[in-house]
This record gives sequence, structure tokens and C-alpha cells, in this order.
Amino acid sequence: MPLYWGDLHNHCGISYGFGGLENALQAAKGQLDFCAIIGHASWYDIPARTEGLEYLVDFHKEGFAKLRNHWDYVLETVKSFNVPGEFVTFQGYEAHSSKYGDHHFLSPDDDFPLVEGESPAAIVEKLAPRRVIAVPHHVGYTPGYRGGNWDRFSAAISPIVEVYSKHGSGMSDQSPFPYYHDMGPRDSRSSVYAALARKLRFGFVGSTDHHAGYPGSYGDGRLAVLADAKTRESIWEAILARRTYAVTGDKIECKFTMNGLPMGSETTASQRRFELNVTACDQIDKIVVYKNLRPWKVVNGELLAGQSSGVSQTAGKYKVKVELGWGNNKAGFEWDAIAEVRGGKLAAVETCFRGRSILAPTPELRDDPTMNALGNRIVSQSDQAVAWSCMSFKNPTTLHPHTAAVILEVEGDVGTELHIKANGAEIKTTVGELLGGNRTVHLQPYNSEAIMVHRAIPQQAYTVSEVWTDTLAESECDVYHAEIKQVNGQCAWISPIYVLA
Ligand SMILES: [Zn+2]
Repeated sequence: MPLYWGDLHNHCGISYGFGGLENALQAAKGQLDFCAIIGHASWYDIPARTEGLEYLVDFHKEGFAKLRNHWDYVLETVKSFNVPGEFVTFQGYEAHSSKYGDHHFLSPDDDFPLVEGESPAAIVEKLAPRRVIAVPHHVGYTPGYRGGNWDRFSAAISPIVEVYSKHGSGMSDQSPFPYYHDMGPRDSRSSVYAALARKLRFGFVGSTDHHAGYPGSYGDGRLAVLADAKTRESIWEAILARRTYAVTGDKIECKFTMNGLPMGSETTASQRRFELNVTACDQIDKIVVYKNLRPWKVVNGELLAGQSSGVSQTAGKYKVKVELGWGNNKAGFEWDAIAEVRGGKLAAVETCFRGRSILAPTPELRDDPTMNALGNRIVSQSDQAVAWSCMSFKNPTTLHPHTAAVILEVEGDVGTELHIKANGAEIKTTVGELLGGNRTVHLQPYNSEAIMVHRAIPQQAYTVSEVWTDTLAESECDVYHAEIKQVNGQCAWISPIYVLA
């Protein structure tokens, strides 16, 4: 079964986000296989408009009204972008809830009315007989403060849970990517781990929750599904079957099975044979397979990298990231770039394009439907070269990148040459040199944008293939899930396999 990549939760100017709807769908098509566009629709228990909360309450209510006024246009536009085999869309919208936590509602049915309700279950009931699921998101917030409410969780309407987005990771209070949005810190009681400890059953997904119309924005959350085909019906079936997992941005490929059954499965077995196959996008730092939330198997990335040093002289596969950005341009800097491979082959290219970094409205921000038309695209690609255009921005803080990149998969050896040109600057190097370290160049003598060609990562350091067997039943429902971390910080959270006694 092939893997498809998507974003099921992101916002644009149809409610209180920013940027045009068509531009958002075009951006999604550029680097994803499927997406839903989510408008903000309601907040049943919205706080009273007391002093200090006027702006917050007003922008929500204005956003809800805006969505209602344009709902038919949204449905029609989302429907028109759904082309089986090419690009798949789903209908959806979001309801906030202090009590139940925020959810987005997704459907493969284009006849999808806007309704409101006191709880996710009430909304799903009103939408019957249409097919619909309610996806809890940013679950890690404080219970009662729009965090996940596991007392009220229903696997029947929520087969998947969003575990990572621009808010951060809700996996646990110790997971990388803590919450720093003004909604507050995360709380272990509403974490994904707390739900798994209760043996609640769901699949993991990531999505951006982007608020400037850029579904799939790199680093803000994406999901993978294992589906028969790139169609609404197949991807919907995969979501219901929990054959999904979350990534931060890099398209880390992962197959995790038990006795041949995929991630998300629920089954009984005394002899449990696990297979884990990973093709990452950067050097693997660590892979941990958890059994009932305790580390059961650990793959150490340093050992993989060590094994690779002896074989790097020979022909093989390498991943090399080319990253463009830095500088002081807050409005956006346009790049035209080309990477050429000589004495080897360019086997594949993965894009790491981002939208403007916006998670919520602020009083000074004005909507502009063109703000998400960033011109990010692959212009041409062959076995020897790739040309692309993209936009980068001044990094918002020194700890927060706003660069744009591509990851090249190169077949060759240490003598294979890479020629990178962008906006008049150039880097000529070889795989051999890049195995020892990265290369950088700046466009201007000082205070300028820059190009970085990352260190080359040999295949042995970004792939893992393991088989383990377990015969020890520990509980009525043993939960096995995997977490993958790359050296560059990008992660994947692989949905559990539930083994019943
Ligand atoms: Zn949202």
C-alpha cells in the first residue's frame, strides 16, 4: 500500500485566518496528496466579553459569521479541487469548546451543512446521515481550557487524534516541541499518553493548524496515510482504520506492522512479530518502540551513522538538503534556484516549503488574499537537475527558522558533484566533501540571505529495518507505538497497534 501525505486542519481567510482559499489549495497541491480546509465555525461555551477579552471574543464571532456567509462558495471550491488520482480534498470545519476541547469535523461528502452543538457528539448527530468524524486537536492544553477531554472521548466518532501542529506536540509533557502559544502550557492529564494509559484507541495524525492559508507548511505538522489509492474513498477508509501517522514536516516513511497487520490495528495474538521499516529524510537520531508507554526497543542513531562510515566510499544513496533563507526580509525574499548532479543521478526531490508563520490573528494583521501566493514550486526536474522557486523570510527569532528547502536524494559516490546556483550565488562541491560537513555562501558581503548545502547523509544512516518478537501479554490491551527522531529535530509519531488479551 502506498503512503500519501496530507494536512487535515489549517485555516485561511474564509474565517478568521488569512490568505485566499484557492491559493491555499494550490499550495497544498504543491507538496501534499490530500487536504481539508477548515473554517472556524463555532464556540458553544465562549468566554463572556469581559474587559480585556473584547478583541478575542470579537475576532472569533466575526470569523464564525464570515464562514457562514461564504459557506456555499467554500464547499464548491473545495469540491472543485478534488480530482481522484491527482489531489484529494475533504470538507470540514472547526468547533472550539472549553469543556470538550477543540475539534475539527471532516467529511468526504460535499453536501456538508454548517451546524453547531454543545458537544462533538451533538454536532456529529446533527450531521447524520452524512459521513463525519470529529478530530480532537491541540489536546495537550489544560483540561477545561480547550485541552483534550478524555472522559468524554469516543473512538466511535474520533478514529484519529491530532498529536502535533503549529501549537507543538501534545504527546506528553516530556515530548519535544512544548506549547508556547498564548493559550498556555501543556498538561500531562490531557496528553496523548494519558489517553493511551486509559487504553483509549485512536490513530495519530499531524496537521498544521496554519492560519495564513498554507496547508502542509513545513515543520508545522503533516500526516501520512497508508491507502489503496489517491481517492477520497480510499483515504477516508484508511483514516477510519487508523492507518495514519504524524510527522512534524519531513516525510519520514514508516511501515510498522505486527503479524503483517498495519499500524492502527486492533487484534489478538500470543506470538507477536513486529516489523519496522523506516526511510527517514535526515540522519536518524533515535527510534523508540513503546509497549504500554514504556520503551520496549530502542534503535540508536549514532550506531547507524557509525556503521555507515566504512561504506561511504562505495556507490550508494545520499540525502542532501539545500536550504535557502536567513537575511532581514520580513516581507519575503524570492529565490530561483537550480541543483545539478554530475557523475551521479538525482533520484528524488522532497520540498520543505513554508507559509507565513501565523497561528492566530493579532490587531495589526490585515487579510490579504495574495499573502499565501508565495510562488513555491518545482519548476523542472530530471535525473540530473532540479530547478525551483521559493520564498523565504527573516527568521522570526534565532530559535525559529523561516527558510525554504529541498531535500535531494542522490545516487552516486564520493566523487559525485553537486552544483547549486541561486540568485547569482553558487556552491560547487562533492558528495565526498559533504560527508565531512556542510557548505554555505551568502548573497551579499554582509547582512544578507544565504544558501546552505547540508551535510550528505548516507542511506545507512537514514534507513532502519528491524524485526522483533514479543510473547509477553502484560494487560487486557497492550499498546505498541513507535516514535522516530531525526538529528535535525524532525519527528514522526507512529500510530499504535492494540493487542488484546
Ligand atoms: Zn484550528
